[in-house]
Amino acid sequence: MEFIDLGAQQARLRARIDARIAAVLDHGAYIMGPEVRELETQLAAFCGARHCVSCANGTDALQLVLMALGLRTGDAVFVPSFTFAATAEVVPCMGATPVFVDIDPATYNMDPESLRRAIAHAREIGLRPAAVIPVDLFGLPADYPAIEAIAQAEGLVLIGDSAQGFGGQINGRMTGTFGRATTTSFFPAKPLGCYGDGGAIFTDDKDLAALLDSLRVHGKGTEKYDNVRIGMNSRLDTLQAAILLEKLSVYADEIDARQAVAQRYSRALHNRFATPAIPDGMSSVWAQYTLRAADSTERDRIMAVLKAQGIPTAIYYPRPLHTQTGYASYPTDPRGLPASEAAAACVFSLPMHPYLDASDQQRIIDALDAAVAEISGA
Ligand SMILES: *Cc1c(COP(=O)(O)O)cnc(C)c1O
Repeated sequence: MEFIDLGAQQARLRARIDARIAAVLDHGAYIMGPEVRELETQLAAFCGARHCVSCANGTDALQLVLMALGLRTGDAVFVPSFTFAATAEVVPCMGATPVFVDIDPATYNMDPESLRRAIAHAREIGLRPAAVIPVDLFGLPADYPAIEAIAQAEGLVLIGDSAQGFGGQINGRMTGTFGRATTTSFFPAKPLGCYGDGGAIFTDDKDLAALLDSLRVHGKGTEKYDNVRIGMNSRLDTLQAAILLEKLSVYADEIDARQAVAQRYSRALHNRFATPAIPDGMSSVWAQYTLRAADSTERDRIMAVLKAQGIPTAIYYPRPLHTQTGYASYPTDPRGLPASEAAAACVFSLPMHPYLDASDQQRIIDALDAAVAEISGA
């Protein structure tokens, strides 16, 4: 059994992907070929954003947005601590300061009240609050309505990190359309993944899209050898765009399948575990299906029982960023980040992908039942 079975998806799409790759080999436009523009148009249409600018990966997508905003030393950027390092990493890369915010223990997403405290604290220590980057963790949209209101009142730019959440919705509105810009990643294991690295930025702001288009190609201007600003090299390969066009064509269907898998898990497990909470009006794309054990000892024992039966599990994330060596010196919510620390100690994720069949899933559920019975001494 696989944690994320990319092979099952490939079996479904292989002939079409092969044809797409062959078409790229035939036309030979490996860099910024026609598939790149075609994909950007389709991605923007999928989520309802006006513009999509593709790039080399989800980390660059975040960095390109911060470059476009002209972030500098003394600026504070508010990020969750319970996330993948890339969300925070790009901030000190720009000379600015990440300020860590706690999560809501039920959704694992940024807690708006903790954000308010972190903003006040940043001002007290002499930083200029500049931007906030909520994350759509495990595929669930962040609380954009609440965070957008705070961002507006405090003069912060809102950037969504939807590396795990592309396709998620709040009351029918898709991620990619909240805030000034939204970034995503096409790393193979993400809900919409390619066969290498890839990323994209969504925005309704035409000028921002034009600036990002320049920044991803060395700060190009209209004349080829007059680079008008300092940029970087962060293009999406034509081959990856070609592969993504086929994967995007089944993505809506795969999101439905992910939801069906998640519902089966939750129905079977909610009596024994803290299953994922989905707030009213929201829908997740289930990048992960994450359970919470009573404590880290129980978690270790459950994971060991499952492993012995050939069922893979994983911990996202075992250490919040503010406790990691490279990030320990940055400011946090002055009350600390207890919900992030508690989640890191107790969560574990089950196999999750659109092609997980009901019999494999039943085997996972039965193994969890047996593990719980064993631990409680039954
Ligand atoms: C994967 C991920 C990224 C980075 O994406 P890459 O394409 O690997 O650079 C950023 N933020 C979050 C929350 C992620 O999960």
